[in-house]
Amino acid sequence: MPDVIRLISMDSGVYSTKELHRGGLTTWQIRREVDIGSLVALRHGWYATPTADPDVVSAVRAGGVLGCVAALRKHGLWVPPGYRRVHIRPTRHGELTTRQACRTFGPTPRALAAVDPVPIALLSAARCMTAEHWIATCDSVLNTAGLSVAQLACEMGRPPKHILALMERCDRRSQSGTESITRTRLRANGFKVVVQPQIAGVGHVDLRVGRLLLECDSVTHHTSLENYHNDRRRDRRALVDGWLTMRITYDDVLYGWTGVLADIRAITRTDRHRTTPSALKTVE
Ligand SMILES: [Zn+2]
Repeated sequence: MPDVIRLISMDSGVYSTKELHRGGLTTWQIRREVDIGSLVALRHGWYATPTADPDVVSAVRAGGVLGCVAALRKHGLWVPPGYRRVHIRPTRHGELTTRQACRTFGPTPRALAAVDPVPIALLSAARCMTAEHWIATCDSVLNTAGLSVAQLACEMGRPPKHILALMERCDRRSQSGTESITRTRLRANGFKVVVQPQIAGVGHVDLRVGRLLLECDSVTHHTSLENYHNDRRRDRRALVDGWLTMRITYDDVLYGWTGVLADIRAITRTDRHRTTPSALKTVE
C-alpha cells in the first residue's frame, strides 16, 4: 500500500499513549519524560515533544486530532490556497473545546494518530472544501498514491453517494491543482476535454480541447532553465503542426477565470478549432 495512504503516524511530535507504548516506553518512563520536560502532556492520553508541530499540538489540545484539509496539507498533498485555519476532527473520546469541528460521515473514526490518515481526512474535507477544490485534492491523492478511484473509495470505507459522485469526476492523471480545476470547470461548461494527451512531436500536454492545447503552468516547474527551454521548443513544434497552445497559471484560474473561459470560448468557437484536423496526429 502506498505510503500516502498507509501513513497513520506521521512524525508530528505528538503521540498517543498507545503509540508511545508501541515505541517501547513504559507508563513509568512516560511519566519520567514528562517530569524532565522531554514530553508535554497535552490532554489525557496524548503527549508532545517540545518541538512538536504547533498545529497538531493545538488540535490535540482542543480535544481532537488534526484532520480534514490541514491533515491533507501535512501529508504533502495539493491543497488550494485558503483553508488556512487549523482543521480539527473530533475523536470518539475527546471533548472538543472549539466549535470549529470538521466531522466525517457516519460513526466518528478512532484517532489512529495525531494527524488523520488521508482517507479519513478526505472524508472530512468534503464538508469543508468546495466540490472543485475537493476533486483537485483527490486527484492529488490518486496521482501521488497511484491508486484508482475504486481503490481509494475502498480505503475510505463506504463513502456516501455524493462523495462517490465527486470521485467519479476525479482523474489520477492530473499533474497539478490548476489542471484539475481547469478540467472540472471546462467540463462543467460543456467542453470535451482530453486529459494528458500525447501529441506527436510535442509529448504529453496537460489538457486538449479541439486543437487547443492547454498547459497549466506552476511557478516551481516552469522556472527551471531546462523546463523554460523545453516549454518553448514544445510550443514551437505545436504551432508548426497546427496546434494552438494556451498557458494558464493558478492565478488565472483563481482571479481571472472569466477571462480565461472567454478566451477558450473564442478560440474554440469556430468548427475548424472544435475538431482535430486529420493532419494532426494524437496518440491518446
Ligand atoms: Zn475542515
